[in-house]
Amino acid sequence: MFENLSERLGGVFDRLTKAGALSEDDVKTALREVRTALLEADVSLPVARDFIKAVQKKATGAAVTKSITPGQQVVKIVHDELVEFLAGEGEPGKLKVDNPPAPILMVGLQGSGKTTTTAKLAKRLKDREGKRVLMASLDVNRPAAMEQLAILGQQIGVDTLPIVKGEDPVTIAKRAKTQASLGGYDVYMLDTAGRLHIDQELIAQAAAVRDVANPRETLLVVDGLTGQDAVNVATEFDDKIGVSGVVLTRMDGDGRGGAALSMRAVTGKPIKFVGLGEKMDALEEFHPERVAGRILG
Ligand code: GDP
Repeated sequence: MFENLSERLGGVFDRLTKAGALSEDDVKTALREVRTALLEADVSLPVARDFIKAVQKKATGAAVTKSITPGQQVVKIVHDELVEFLAGEGEPGKLKVDNPPAPILMVGLQGSGKTTTTAKLAKRLKDREGKRVLMASLDVNRPAAMEQLAILGQQIGVDTLPIVKGEDPVTIAKRAKTQASLGGYDVYMLDTAGRLHIDQELIAQAAAVRDVANPRETLLVVDGLTGQDAVNVATEFDDKIGVSGVVLTRMDGDGRGGAALSMRAVTGKPIKFVGLGEKMDALEEFHPERVAGRILG
């Protein structure tokens, strides 16, 4: 995902660290190159600009240019700033699932990987935290999506709420809550309907479900390959429904990484997990430190 960016920055930093003494102008030139590399990775201009400004503030002055290893100093400042840029609140990968049964609302556009991610997360909660999880599909317009969740549930050994034809999403959410309480589940996950675009109906439905479920977490699933669009989708979902975190899917693909880099800065919401493939185990916590390390090599 970050190969190109990493290569570009590697080149800039190589020159910097080999240069020995550095003038303020050298630093400025290098940071301009960093900015170009970010833009090429599909980071939006204001985000790239803010990032460079923050680095520049710390990288100017005698502390850097007069130090014994000025190049390495600059690289370290970029690294630290990148971590800060990517980091959100709380521990990566930790979801608020205390007070059983804890509802988790899954939202996102159709095709973003929402149903797959719901199952991946359920499996993770079961395997790593020993939680009893119940999953329910609320996608009443697409029986195939409901079936898909049931099939995934069987595959990973997680229960799904039985499908009752003709029910509306709010009724299903209420039934999931009752079933989760009576059945002694720790967590219940509500996989809401996805649509191709954010429209009135999608938002109204997700909001109605949110209001009855009172979710502990509302996770937005977005396709990481869509770059700035992913960030725009997140902004809109957060404005209209309120999200607690983002899951970026298809990070195994050859996207440029802009969505991952801009998400927190633009929306203020942390990326909690990334999807790295179609398999049920292909889900990773998003660690800002590790991501910064991967980008800067
Ligand atoms: P939904 O419409 O949002 O529920 O999307 P689905 O969960 O049905 O996913 C759509 C397609 O994307 C499926 O073929 C998934 O296997 C695939 N998919 C989901 N997450 C990932 C991911 O992280 N990487 C890759 N390569 N494919 C994914």
